[in-house]
Amino acid sequence: MKENINALKSGYRSFKEFGFKANEARFKALVEDGQNPKALFIGCSDSRVVPEIIMDTKPGDLFITRNIGNFVPPFKEDEDFHATAAAIEYAVSVLQVNDIIVCGHSHCGAISALFEPPKITNRQEVIHTLKWLELGKDAKDQVEKIIPHEHIEVKKEATQKLSVIFQLENLLTYPEVKKRVFEKDLFLHGWYYEIENGNISYYDETEDRFEPL
Ligand SMILES: [Zn+2]
Repeated sequence: MKENINALKSGYRSFKEFGFKANEARFKALVEDGQNPKALFIGCSDSRVVPEIIMDTKPGDLFITRNIGNFVPPFKEDEDFHATAAAIEYAVSVLQVNDIIVCGHSHCGAISALFEPPKITNRQEVIHTLKWLELGKDAKDQVEKIIPHEHIEVKKEATQKLSVIFQLENLLTYPEVKKRVFEKDLFLHGWYYEIENGNISYYDETEDRFEPL
């Protein structure tokens, strides 16, 4: 679809003419002083969940890593390529952020796939996707245990939220995260964004439920 790439190119031209100019001083300062983001945001790759828009942030405000399902793989001491782990380490140990937000969302395709696996004839084509989705399996299994007879959409929503809590637990498997959380120098936040109404709720640990932000 040539229109798609052309729309993006024309978006760039508009940015260069207006958006860049409006933020030029900020960009220059961010180059001179380096970045000092307010938080690490771990979100879903879903095109409808745009952190800069939903938190109304400016360049330099957020260090972001997005992946399918906003999952946090547990810390693993090996020399493989771990993109999400590297982003966490860099944000925590180099940029020294004080807050990490894990943000789940409604209508998440990753969570839906746990309930209704996509119909793909050649597993090899999506081999990494299927492996990656295992990171949501514990949440899904737990929901199946707690509300086995609920409608599938109710189960999906419950899994989207429970998975956020499980990913926060996975964050604590990173030694430096655990240490700084224990020292009250780093704070973990579980959020849930609803695409259809723009609402964000946060996980309240004491009440063990999501409350409006
Ligand atoms: Zn998603």
